[in-house]
Amino acid sequence: LDVVRAVEPRVADAIKQELADQRDSLKLIASENYASPATLLAMGNWFSDKYAEGTIGRRFYAGCQNVDTVEAVAAEHARELFGASHAYVQPHSGIDANLVAFWAVLAARVEAPALEKAQVRHVNDLTDADWATLRRALGDQRMLGMSLDAGGHLTHGFRPNISGKMFEQRSYGTDPASGLLDYDALRAAAHEFRPLIIVAGYSAYPRLVNFAKVREIAEEVGATLMVDMAHFAGLVAGKVLTGDFDPIPHAHIVTTTTHKSLRGPRGGMVLCQPELAEQVDRGCPMVLGGPLPHVMAAKAVALAEARTPEFRDYAQRIVDNSRALAEGLLSRGAKLVTGGTDNHLVLIDVSSYGLTGRQAEAALLDSGVVTNRNSVPQDPNGAWYTSGVRIGTPALTSRGLGTTEMDTVADLIHTVLENTAPGTTKAGTPSKATHVLDEKVAARVAGAATEL
Ligand code: PLP
Repeated sequence: LDVVRAVEPRVADAIKQELADQRDSLKLIASENYASPATLLAMGNWFSDKYAEGTIGRRFYAGCQNVDTVEAVAAEHARELFGASHAYVQPHSGIDANLVAFWAVLAARVEAPALEKAQVRHVNDLTDADWATLRRALGDQRMLGMSLDAGGHLTHGFRPNISGKMFEQRSYGTDPASGLLDYDALRAAAHEFRPLIIVAGYSAYPRLVNFAKVREIAEEVGATLMVDMAHFAGLVAGKVLTGDFDPIPHAHIVTTTTHKSLRGPRGGMVLCQPELAEQVDRGCPMVLGGPLPHVMAAKAVALAEARTPEFRDYAQRIVDNSRALAEGLLSRGAKLVTGGTDNHLVLIDVSSYGLTGRQAEAALLDSGVVTNRNSVPQDPNGAWYTSGVRIGTPALTSRGLGTTEMDTVADLIHTVLENTAPGTTKAGTPSKATHVLDEKVAARVAGAATEL
């Protein structure tokens, strides 16, 4: 750190403080983790300086032999870990992985037939009229994804994201009574809407998805099934999700981040069936800039770690801990979306404490418990204030906490929420943003959080 401090002390101090904060607080953000020292060290090195546009063995720059090695090793580990026939490890993030996948599907399903029809090999060889027709055909495509308030992700066709502008989008959701994914409604929507792509996967759904069933629906309407397993990739890698709940054998194409439950460096990845491989490998330069070789090196290391028996044990403990956390909260009277969990995350409906998600998130943060606010299905408070708080166990499980400690964590969360009241604005009217929490309670919980 002294090397950094000599150049910019404020950054050195921020790095040091980040380590202290991550050690002293309870990291319950469901999408965060602690990467291993081997993964972190593989990322901080001279690979960062190298340009390597293209793919393994076919680069637009000279001197990429060592990048070829790390990209090939990362892809090999990914294929073998997940049992996938093809892996593309270049995406810089989960959003980028999804963009690569969308274009791969569009290229295979819309662009390639258009080129064949026009009897040319490349879009540059199309006439202006054929090009205009192709652009219209690309722009006419539809995507069916899980609704945001049911736990879907912005990249699954929503307006604030490019996916919502590339595709005409419709959502499927959960049953209002049970909170569970409604497969009949999904089937009906697919038959009526006729999407090119059905996206399954989520950021905030606390149950399992039956991918075999979703594939069946995709087959009925001739759609491509894309699964975004960003959140639960670690559970797939650790063989906690198998059979109908393992997306790899059922999806045409699977995307993921590498930094959530998979515990790798920040980044993304695409796995696909052979017929999409060529299009996926065109991700750079189609939608990605030069790859990040230092991050691919770290992906290779993290994926090697994920192939060990210890990682399988870790993945199972994530779910055991999540269930223990849910039970601890339920036994103290909390209300959970779907009434519990089958995966790594729990969604607390904090309206039963009389709070918005934003108030609950802030009160927990005051107490050393780091979470994020999240919509609940049919949320009356919208996506900014929300009525929920999402918590997840991948990070605390990495720190070695078990089910007994999860009960303590549940107690700390409940104690904070029970002792928090909504605040008022400066004008004295009720506020959805501010909260009132006794400082002594916050300090007591923060002390317990640091001890854990
Ligand atoms: N897909 C899902 C399901 C996610 O939950 C997220 C991130 O939260 C992403 C994609 C985007 O990942 P990134 O932030 O790496 O772009």
